[in-house]
Amino acid sequence: MLPLTGEAAAHWRTLVAHQRPEWPSLAELGEVTDHLAASLPLVTPQECDTLTARLAQAAEGEAFLLQGGDCAERFDRLSTRAIHGKLRLLQQMALILTHASAAPVVTVGRMAGQYAKPRSRPTETVDGRTLPVYRGDAVNGTGFSQAERRPDPVRLLRMYDASRHTLDVMRAFARGSTDPRQLHEENQDFVARSPAGERYGELASRIGRALSSQEARGGGPLRTTEVFASHEGLLLDYEAALTREDPRSGRRYAGSGHMLWIGDRTRQPDGAHVAYFATIDNPIAVKLGPATTPAQALALIDRLDPDRRPGRLTFIVRMGAHRVRYLLPELVEKVTASGAPVVWVCDPMHGNTFEAPSGHKTRRFDDILAEVAGFFEVHKALGTHPGGLHVELTGEDVTECVGGGADLGFDDLPRRYESACDPRLNEGQALDLAFQVAEMFTP
Ligand code: PEP
Ligand code: MN
Repeated sequence: MLPLTGEAAAHWRTLVAHQRPEWPSLAELGEVTDHLAASLPLVTPQECDTLTARLAQAAEGEAFLLQGGDCAERFDRLSTRAIHGKLRLLQQMALILTHASAAPVVTVGRMAGQYAKPRSRPTETVDGRTLPVYRGDAVNGTGFSQAERRPDPVRLLRMYDASRHTLDVMRAFARGSTDPRQLHEENQDFVARSPAGERYGELASRIGRALSSQEARGGGPLRTTEVFASHEGLLLDYEAALTREDPRSGRRYAGSGHMLWIGDRTRQPDGAHVAYFATIDNPIAVKLGPATTPAQALALIDRLDPDRRPGRLTFIVRMGAHRVRYLLPELVEKVTASGAPVVWVCDPMHGNTFEAPSGHKTRRFDDILAEVAGFFEVHKALGTHPGGLHVELTGEDVTECVGGGADLGFDDLPRRYESACDPRLNEGQALDLAFQVAEMFTP
C-alpha cells in the first residue's frame, strides 16, 4: 500500500460509523479531539511493526497469540495492582502455552485503551425507566441516571490519560521482568491449591523439567520483556485524533495502542471503521461472529490487507461453542484458498454469554473450553494453524463466569461480580483454561 494523502486518509469520515455515541455537542467534541491531536501518541510505529512481525510468526504457526484483559476497563479501578495482576496472569498462562505449543507466545493485553463498548441496544429500561445504555467509561457512566448516561466527550481525555498511565505501568512491569522459574512456581502453587490440580500436576512437572533443561542451556523461548496493548478501535473520533504519520516511512499509525480491532458489530466492509482501519499500518484484527459469510471475510481481507502482509490482519472468531465446528471450516477454507496469511484467533467468550437466573450476564467455563476445543479441531482437520486465544480475564478473584476448577455456581455470582460489561474469567479459571488448552496442542 502506498502512504495515503490527507484526503484519502479522511475518506472514512464520509461513511456511516455504527455505534458512534450521540455526542451532545460536536463543538465540544471538536475541542477534545483538537487537544488529542496536539498530544503525544502512546505507542511508536517501531513497536507496532515489532508486533506485526511477531504476529507474522503466528500466521505461520510458529508463534501463538495470547490476548486478554477486561471486557471494559474502568477509570475508577485504575491501579498498579490490577494491571500487574492481569499481566502476571497472562505471563503464567503464556508459560503453560509456550511449553505446550513448543512456540513463543506473544502476549497482548486487552488494556490501556479498552474503554469503549459496542452495545446491542441503544437504551436500557429499569423499573419502567428508560435511559441511554452504558457505552464504556470513554463515553458515559454506569450509574442509572440521566446525568451519568449522557455522553461526555471530555471522557475521551480521561481515556487518553488512563491509557497512558496504564502503558507506563505495563512498560515498567516488562522492564522488571520476569523469571520463568518464578512464574512456574506460581503455577505450581495454583496446581497445589486447585480442586482440579491433580489433573494438571503432570503437565506442571513437565514444564518444570523443561525449564531446568533450558536453564542448563542458558535460556528459554518465553518472551517476558515485551508487552503490547490492544483495544477495540470503536471511537473513530478518538482514534483519528491520535493517528500520526511516521516520518521514517510516511505511513500512518494509530497512536492509541499497538493493536486495534474492529468489533463484530462494526465490521461492515463499506462502513467507516473498515475504511479508517485501512488507513493505518498497525497490526489489526476483526472479530467475526456467527453471521459472518465467507464473502464478507474475503471483502475484509481485500480492504484491510490488500498486500497480503503476514501479521497485518488477525481474524478473531467468536462463534459460540455449539456453532464453531460447523461455521468455522468454510471460513477457514475460503480464506486459505485466497492465499491471505491471516492469524486465526479464538475468542471463546462472546459467543457463549447468557443471563443467569439472578439476571447477571455470565458464561460457563465448559462452553468456553468447548469452543476452544472446536476451534483447534477445525484447524487440525484443515491443516491450518490455531494462531491464538482472546479472553476476558482479570487477576482478581471475581465471580462472574460459572464453572472451572472451583466450580462456581449461579449462587456465587452476586458475591463478587464487578464487571461493568461482560463476565471475565478469574485467576483460577484463567489458569484452568491455560492448562486445559495446553492439552489441545498436538505434539
Ligand atoms: C468485546 O470484545 O467485548 C466485544 C463486544 O466483542 P464482539 O465485537 O466480538 O461482540
Ligand atoms: Mn466483552
